[in-house]
Amino acid sequence: MQLYNTLSAEERAIMIDDAGQQRLTLSFYAYAKIQDPQKFRNDLFVAWNALDALGRIYVASEGINAQMSVPAENFEAFRETLEAYDFMKGIRLNVAVEHDDHSFLKLTIKVRHKIVADGLNDDTFDVTNIGVHLKAKEFNEILDDPNTIVVDFRNHYESEVGHFKNAITPDVETFRESLPIINEQLKDHKDDKNLVMYCTGGIRCEKASAYFKHQGFKNVYQLEGGIINYAKQLKEEGLESKFIGKNFVFDNRLGERITDDIISQCHQCGKPCDNHTNCENDGCHLLFIQCDDCKAAMENCCSTECLEIIHMPLVDQVRLRTGKQVGNKVFRKGKSENLKFKHSGELPETALATAQKPADIRQKIKVKKVLLGKAEHYYVKAQVGQFTVENHELNSGDKILISGPTTGDQELVLEKIIVNGAETQTAKIGDKVTFEVPFRIRLSDKLYKIVN
Ligand SMILES: [Zn+2]
Ligand SMILES: [Zn+2]
Repeated sequence: MQLYNTLSAEERAIMIDDAGQQRLTLSFYAYAKIQDPQKFRNDLFVAWNALDALGRIYVASEGINAQMSVPAENFEAFRETLEAYDFMKGIRLNVAVEHDDHSFLKLTIKVRHKIVADGLNDDTFDVTNIGVHLKAKEFNEILDDPNTIVVDFRNHYESEVGHFKNAITPDVETFRESLPIINEQLKDHKDDKNLVMYCTGGIRCEKASAYFKHQGFKNVYQLEGGIINYAKQLKEEGLESKFIGKNFVFDNRLGERITDDIISQCHQCGKPCDNHTNCENDGCHLLFIQCDDCKAAMENCCSTECLEIIHMPLVDQVRLRTGKQVGNKVFRKGKSENLKFKHSGELPETALATAQKPADIRQKIKVKKVLLGKAEHYYVKAQVGQFTVENHELNSGDKILISGPTTGDQELVLEKIIVNGAETQTAKIGDKVTFEVPFRIRLSDKLYKIVN
């Protein structure tokens, strides 16, 4: 039985593109008592591998913590694999707002001692005695209360690109470090203030809130489902965002934009920028913020040293790397003194610049369109799309719109349409029609006719 990845990330990326499916990026976690974490891990791998699910998952005797990418069409089947376990019945899955089919390219499930990599190894308090969970609307309300202290329980590189207004953003590299610091800072307010906390997906606050209740804080609250879930509720309920900037996430996107505010600077030139990157030198791999100009000038490197190294022959690079520890230090090294504009600790509350919206002006202009059907397949090499006509009819010469979360809104005029292998003037309901599409389309993209 296959229990590990057999494809490289590159092979997987090509496969995902060829399949043309929509994928959802999601995360979830659950604390539970797991008797045999290794067996649990293997069972999950077999079930999820069959569903083409990818991601980074930690399993421990205390539970599971997962960040994943799942084909949209397998979403329900995926949910059933979770519901098979009592402790995950009705579990909340945080689905990311932005779509990216390449958010994860491997299925990696690791058995660990704890489910949060930089978690708290303290068994002296009851981890189930947690703070009050707040939804986005309630969270906004409590932030308006002058008696509220809000604390960011993420790391310096995360809060640098985005955080809640007026939040305390501890200058720490691990979550574990921030707990005693905050405890000391707020020790005189254990009774009179609301201690309100948040993190990326909510999991760190589960433990942090239990810790602070154990330390004697009376009014402890936490953002349910973290910033990921907050962003989703903002969209669904049309709420005002009290979070500014970007939410850093650990997948290939390295961030999900919540507001258009850019609050951080390129670490090299100081220009407003909030795009993280990893240094091109594999012996460094530093995570830092770099603008497009510096990326071009520095060839994706964090320093002139690294730039020199990547131009060396590979054998010399490997020789230089020998004996050096990179791995888990990657993020600590985010504080390299080469980075002049790196900030942590006290962070600005105001935007330095506004993010450019991707050029998609057409969406704003009202076009009259009629739904015709949906995409069934994309032949990558031939650049031909296949669609099923479900309503009305499609004629050669029609102006059409192809629309989907990954594809966006793309218009084109049809010169030639083919049904059953022959060129035709009209495709009718039930026909499978193919025509050239000069861009990649996704399964289930909607096909519209534009009528003027
Ligand atoms: Zn720059
Ligand atoms: Zn470097």
